[in-house]
Amino acid sequence: MRILKFGGSSVANYERIGNVINIIQQAKKERDICGVVVSAFSGVTDTLTSISQKACKGDSNYLSDLQALEEKHSEILKAFIPLQDQSPHLLKIKIWFNELEDILQGIHLIGELSKRCLDRIMSFGERFSAYIISQALIQKGSQAEFLDSREIIKGDASYGCAKVLPESYDLIAKYFSEHKALQVITGFIASAPDGSTVTLGRGGSDYTASIFAAALNCEAVEIWTDVDGMLTADPNKVPKAFSIPMVSYEEAMELSHFGAKVIYPPTMQPALSRGIPIHIKNSFNPTHAGTVITKLAKDSERKNIVTGISSISHIALIRVEGSGMVGVAGISKRLFGALSANNISVILITQASSEHTICIAVKPEQADGALKAINEEFDLEISNHTITQITSRKDLSIVSIVGEHMRNAPGLAGRVFHSLGKNGVNIVAIAQGSSELNISAVINFNDETKALNALHDEFFFPDQKSINVFIVGIGLIGSELLSQIAKQQQILKNELAHDIKVIGIANTKKMLIDEKGIILDNYQETLSNNGENSNIQLFIEKMKGLNLPNSVLVDCTASIDIPNCYEDVLKSSISVVTPNKKSQTKEYSFYSALKKASRRRGVNFLYETSVGAGLPILSTLNDLLKSGDKIIKIEAVLSGTLSYIFNSFKNGTTFSEIVSQAKELGYTEPDPRDDLNGLDVARKILILSRESGYQLELKDIDIQNLVPEKCRKCKTIDEFFSCLKTYDSYFEELRAKAEAEGKKLAYIASLFEGKAAVRLEAIDATHPFYSLSGSDNIVSFSTSRYYKQPLVVKGPGAGAEVTAAGVFADIIRIAN
Ligand code: ADP
Ligand code: ASP
Ligand code: MG
Repeated sequence: MRILKFGGSSVANYERIGNVINIIQQAKKERDICGVVVSAFSGVTDTLTSISQKACKGDSNYLSDLQALEEKHSEILKAFIPLQDQSPHLLKIKIWFNELEDILQGIHLIGELSKRCLDRIMSFGERFSAYIISQALIQKGSQAEFLDSREIIKGDASYGCAKVLPESYDLIAKYFSEHKALQVITGFIASAPDGSTVTLGRGGSDYTASIFAAALNCEAVEIWTDVDGMLTADPNKVPKAFSIPMVSYEEAMELSHFGAKVIYPPTMQPALSRGIPIHIKNSFNPTHAGTVITKLAKDSERKNIVTGISSISHIALIRVEGSGMVGVAGISKRLFGALSANNISVILITQASSEHTICIAVKPEQADGALKAINEEFDLEISNHTITQITSRKDLSIVSIVGEHMRNAPGLAGRVFHSLGKNGVNIVAIAQGSSELNISAVINFNDETKALNALHDEFFFPDQKSINVFIVGIGLIGSELLSQIAKQQQILKNELAHDIKVIGIANTKKMLIDEKGIILDNYQETLSNNGENSNIQLFIEKMKGLNLPNSVLVDCTASIDIPNCYEDVLKSSISVVTPNKKSQTKEYSFYSALKKASRRRGVNFLYETSVGAGLPILSTLNDLLKSGDKIIKIEAVLSGTLSYIFNSFKNGTTFSEIVSQAKELGYTEPDPRDDLNGLDVARKILILSRESGYQLELKDIDIQNLVPEKCRKCKTIDEFFSCLKTYDSYFEELRAKAEAEGKKLAYIASLFEGKAAVRLEAIDATHPFYSLSGSDNIVSFSTSRYYKQPLVVKGPGAGAEVTAAGVFADIIRIAN
């Protein structure tokens, strides 16, 4: 025999109930089904509660809400039953609603709503639902009977969450021996010893089903809901959650105790006591196998150490502190005694081994009561300072990882800490059940979703890393970067298991944020149609608010304002990637604050492309330093423009002609003086110097400005070129002299013994830069290891494509 249970979501409306009837009738053909437990229609229990509260508060709107509820139920009933047969059933519903109205009127008049009364009111939800479904089944040709479970499930008088009394089991067995038709049973409700109505706790219909299955010694109980079984995490919070084929009773209990709403925790107990498997199935997807909760016979099939991750949103943590508690017997006993005497249930306990503090997590609405109970119990200890502090903190959540295989698996807590720490999730308290079946961490409520996703990635997709990208600036580099990401997204996912999503895009006009990831094929269109007016502060606030793991801000602007936000972003545990040089070349204290923030938060601040575009210059330097090498000297040609100019400056040409040619080819800034003045190169060597450990400022760099003094004042570019012409002979002299000595001119940035300079130099054929051609950049590192022959990095040092590729590489580095 089997018991089936359908939750509120499966019986939300006429169509859904029709679907459930099909499932029941099909199941009856294949299996021996003796009873179907149903919940109230979706949302009805909540509505009944809110109507009662309204009535109690004197809000007469409760009557119209009640009317709407009556119409909803009558409409569904009418939809299943032919007109001529409707009257007796509509009358039944009407009588129940009249009764409800009388009770609510009483509440309205007295202004009081007891738990006992609320239980009676809530019970109507399941009674309506079971009655209507039983009649619908009969209409569809099944032999079915309505069963009000209060007749045979007896509970204690704990209104709101009654315990089921053992005598219920015999009553159920006897009832079923006398009733052979399919029973359509009200979930959630029972009767107290005095005959009044009690409920079994929110979500309690699962429990009802399990009690029936145990009493009837069923071969299985089937819980039909709206998801494909028990998933590795709550799919509303963790999009990558997937169905677990098999879990043990203990695991299911832990996962549901710590928030997996898909099954009510007490459900496991009756089934476990008789070894009855619980199948969780999806009424929206009946062919999916779902999850079987059992003793876990096929243990070896498990691949993951962790079975599932769950969370409880909104808990309060109460901390009892005092050095006088150390070694004193009975403190815990009195503490928990006081809480239990006040009906406060403790969700989690942690105690430092010093016994100096005990922390307990409770529901926020019970926090004040808990504080009061503890203060009263330890009145004496507080007055003699044995206990020095009792505090409570709200707005916290608990995340728990659960799994049978976690027992004896070393290093698990470390992985939890690492993955939360890396994502900037602060752990307020941590507890490991002595069964080692779960590790739970108390964290800020705002971090809950991020923590769940980070842990889910860590334990279920250890090789897969999600990266959530927020791009500011979609000019040449930004738009090229977006098109490179669009091309690579799928390949990266398949081959490197990197799940890169662009969550936010902003330019000066518009901004767009989509938590699910912006579709990049037509982002320009989406941005202009759906984007809101750009506001970078707001963009950053939203990015922080989303609190996604592995988030990265990519600044593809040349703005000086956005770098001012970097520190705040890094401190929010979000990495920063940029080709923009501004932040690395402002005052040293600014730069070092960013480095410190990124180190402290364990996030990345990467700007490889700010020196030599896509060339691996900074990463090479950092690898050398990290491996213990010492930098002796750095020499570099770091301007593609100046590289081109001096590589093309040959006999028979004039300097001004070459500069003008470079401008025409688009190699220079709009005003070529911005290249020739050497400032850009100076900024790059400043970055290299700082990365090498020197606390230099821009003013410390000895810069040879190649713009002749007189030409600096020219107002227009044409004026500047005419002025430069008058210096052609000066540059020609330098060139000819160098040539006569077998040398070439090059504009070289250098760092030696802590001093940085940018100068025009004549280099001979033995110099590694002698063979430089076109607009290439080149850097040579002379180090303790690379002394005789320096380590040289050479290649194209400019261009949107290579720069974007370098930025992309930095983004991917975030995942590692
Ligand atoms: P029913 O109405 O069938 O009783 P519930 O709403 O009580 O259904 O429980 C199912 C819901 O539980 C799912 O829709 C899902 O949102 C939530 N849920 C939370 N954690 C989990 C989990 N680990 N696996 C599956 N569902 C979960
Ligand atoms: N209808 C009840 C509730 O909403 C019981 C249940 O659905 O299991 O809590
Ligand atoms: Mg439920």
